[in-house]
Amino acid sequence: MDDHLQLRERVAKACRIMGLMGLAKGVTGHASARIPGTDRVLVRARGPNELGVRFTTAEQIVEITLDGKLASPNDQGLKAPKEVYIHTSVYKARPDVYGVVHAHPMNAVLFTICRKPLRPLFGAYDPDAAKLAISPLPIYPYSILCDTPERGDELAVALGTDKGCLMTGHGITTCGPNVEEATMTAIALEELALVNFRAASLGEPVDIPIDEQDFIKAIDSDLQQAGSGEPPAGRAISQWRYYCMLEESASG
Ligand SMILES: [Zn+2]
Repeated sequence: MDDHLQLRERVAKACRIMGLMGLAKGVTGHASARIPGTDRVLVRARGPNELGVRFTTAEQIVEITLDGKLASPNDQGLKAPKEVYIHTSVYKARPDVYGVVHAHPMNAVLFTICRKPLRPLFGAYDPDAAKLAISPLPIYPYSILCDTPERGDELAVALGTDKGCLMTGHGITTCGPNVEEATMTAIALEELALVNFRAASLGEPVDIPIDEQDFIKAIDSDLQQAGSGEPPAGRAISQWRYYCMLEESASG
């Protein structure tokens, strides 16, 4: 363990919240954070002693280079995940990004399988989630693993300047100015998919009117200035604290 312990703890916490919120099951899925001022990244590792996303500890976070390689050998046999290139390619393409999340949440994936868009069916119910439908996220149209630098770069091109993308038959990738906001975008995206799924099951959903979409879109999300890698501020930190408390109480 080195001096990035605090950031490792933040990445591990994000992983545990991903598991708790149903974004990642078993051992698949990972969060990462760029180490500010460097070209290094901390990411959830895979290996013989890993405990799964829901139970990630700081010891299971490894430091990697932007080539996707371990910065130094790990004495526990931990390795970077196969899909590490999702993270490295996004960090290379997006200097504003300091946190990346990749997960396989079922409801979001169902919409990619059925080639159905996530529709703006609600507003104030969850403005952050609604915004992901009002300005639809891009789609990476392949179900294969992003396990090469080239595939990672393709995903980063598909993502563009957005805060996330859907990956057909596979999952989602979200990003932000810190790992916490990338995680909360992933949670919001899965909530959006769940509401769309349930509404379609119940009847014939109706999009909210354009003027109401504009209203929701204009709500200030009170997020911090992008780029620093610092933990979230303003309303976002209250929201994140709630997820942290939920995770701590669930873990006893
Ligand atoms: Zn994946």
